[in-house]
Amino acid sequence: MTLRTRVVLGFAGTLALMLALFSAALYAGMAYALYREVDRDIAGRAADVARFVRVVPRAHLQARLIRLPNVEVFSAPDLFIQVLDPAGTPVARSANLGDRLLPPAGALPTQGQYVTASVDGVRLRMYSVPLFVNERPALIVQTARSLRDVDFTLRRLRRALVTGSLLMVLVSAAVVAWLTSAFVNPLARITRTAMDIEASGDLRLRVDYRGPPDEVGRFAAAFNAMLERLEQAYNRLNAAYEAQRRFLADVSHQLRSPLTVIRGNVELIRRARRESPSRQQPALEAALEDTHAAATHLSRLVDGLLTLARAETGQPLAREPVPLAEVLDEAARQGRRLAQGRRFRVAGLEAAEGRVVAGHRDYLVQLFLILLENAAKYTPPGGSILLEVAGGDREVRVTVADTGIGIRPEHLPHIFERFYRAPDASGTDGTGLGLAIGRWIAEQHGGTIAVESEPGRGSRFTVTLPVAAGQPGPTGAP
Ligand code: ADP
Repeated sequence: MTLRTRVVLGFAGTLALMLALFSAALYAGMAYALYREVDRDIAGRAADVARFVRVVPRAHLQARLIRLPNVEVFSAPDLFIQVLDPAGTPVARSANLGDRLLPPAGALPTQGQYVTASVDGVRLRMYSVPLFVNERPALIVQTARSLRDVDFTLRRLRRALVTGSLLMVLVSAAVVAWLTSAFVNPLARITRTAMDIEASGDLRLRVDYRGPPDEVGRFAAAFNAMLERLEQAYNRLNAAYEAQRRFLADVSHQLRSPLTVIRGNVELIRRARRESPSRQQPALEAALEDTHAAATHLSRLVDGLLTLARAETGQPLAREPVPLAEVLDEAARQGRRLAQGRRFRVAGLEAAEGRVVAGHRDYLVQLFLILLENAAKYTPPGGSILLEVAGGDREVRVTVADTGIGIRPEHLPHIFERFYRAPDASGTDGTGLGLAIGRWIAEQHGGTIAVESEPGRGSRFTVTLPVAAGQPGPTGAP
């Protein structure tokens, strides 16, 4: 049985029961009052008649003459009067009785007595009362009234109560059914949506609720909000899964070519050794050289992947106060070594003096080395590379600028993506992971990394890092 049916049946049942009790009480009270009125009326008339009976004493024979009043005076169209002698023989009757007789009173009543009888199919209420003369019953006065009007009134009342009650129950049941649907229908819609989602797996479905923001409205809204959260969580998971899948595909692709080179070269070396074990061959030297380069590339790739895999876990770096000047000294030393054949200049190092970054020393050095290595890689010999430091109150900016090949605008937005390499870089050795790692390190330190570049003229990478504590260097910010 549905919730709505139960509510409607429960309500209609209770209302019907209450109306039945109320109608029964009302009907009984009404019937009692009407019948009592009849009883009182006929008893009063009988008393009136009795009051006007005259007893005339006779001196002789101890007999008495009883003189009756004209009963016509006391009757009414629906009130019948009949006077009997103690033997039950009628001695007077009201004219409205015609030739009919009121039923006898039965045994001689000793006091007033009510009887309901039926005469010619008409229900009569009859009252019989004895009249005593010298303590001996002398007459019986009978008064009666037709119950037709009372019965008719009661019948109409009964019909009105039954029809009225039925109508009230039906109308209220309809109203309750309508009101119930106001909260049952949205519930049904919510259930249907949940079942649709279950069947189709489509988390974009929502409950279509149009109505006031009452309890049901709030429930529908909460249900939709929960679906929204579920959908977002699912989308995030899906995106992470997609990224992971792409990453794995990229990694496999990146690993395949150096491994092919290594396998091919080792194969070549083995064959050459088999054919002429003693002879030195220049081709062998070249193959060994290639193998070494491929292995180096592989280990750099694996190093980069390990770092990114760590980044992927989302665990923050363990941080400690790192003096920025030491990091930049180390970076400058290595930068000079990497520059080989390009002019290398360091400026504003004193701005880093005394400044402390909350972070990880090795990662910070790695960040600047990535930029310096790129500057050297993408700047032809004869160009120049600049490592410049500038300090503000709360942050330090470290710029690595070069006069190299630059990056075309269409590639700029992608260079921080994993494995992305601009076509101009294809001639140089690289994994495409450096800047992705660099950006992760900068972000882990609460900083940013930005790039400006002009193709053919050079690039400029700026790392901005918040300074945790410490005093600015003697010369301060430029
Ligand atoms: P890679 O190992 O290829 O250098 P990175 O992630 O470090 O990978 O750099 C991504 C790409 O950004 C490079 O392939 C190159 O196209 C471009 N790039 C990075 N630094 C420079 C630079 N200083 N000058 C020109 N292009 C650069």
